[in-house]
Amino acid sequence: MLFFYVIMKMVKSMEKEYKLTIKKLWGHFKVVNKHRWKVFCLCCKVGIPWQGIWHDWTKYLPVEFFETARYFDEGKYSPIRKCKEVTGYSIAWIHHKNHNKHHYEYWHDYNAPTPAPMMPFKYFLELICDSYAAGMTYQGKNWTKEYQLSYWNRVKDKGVIHPKTKALIERVHTEVAKDGINKVLKRKHLKELYDEYTKE
Ligand SMILES: [Zn+2]
Repeated sequence: MLFFYVIMKMVKSMEKEYKLTIKKLWGHFKVVNKHRWKVFCLCCKVGIPWQGIWHDWTKYLPVEFFETARYFDEGKYSPIRKCKEVTGYSIAWIHHKNHNKHHYEYWHDYNAPTPAPMMPFKYFLELICDSYAAGMTYQGKNWTKEYQLSYWNRVKDKGVIHPKTKALIERVHTEVAKDGINKVLKRKHLKELYDEYTKE
């Protein structure tokens, strides 16, 4: 009895102190797993299963998990986006992009000769898998092959990104909008595009 009383007290204080509920924690945990599973499947398709297994593992660390769980809302959009709208920044995102090479933001160094270099091919592959898995996770059955391109057009001018990476991502989304994932997300084809866009 005492045990349950203590647990309930802890849950109540957690809800008050950290604006966290069991429902949000569990809901966020499920969405992270669902997203990671979709990424893993796509990563296998393009020949990087190991990266697919480790993809986004930092989301389970307290620094990322608790903040994103706090802004979780039914899993229809990114809690990081919500957090930034409310507080102006997201510690979870700052930590995430500094520890995950599949984000082009990871490679950004304002003090380097090329502040936003091209990301290596294997991380470009993971980025592509990540963006499609995220779109499918948040959109659910409303997701269409045109979705990623329209999303990309809304966000592409907001970050610092190498112009060639930008053009390359846009090319992939344009092709998928036309031909679908199965045809475009193939390692050989993506390598050809990567080489075409990265050559001097
Ligand atoms: Zn990530």
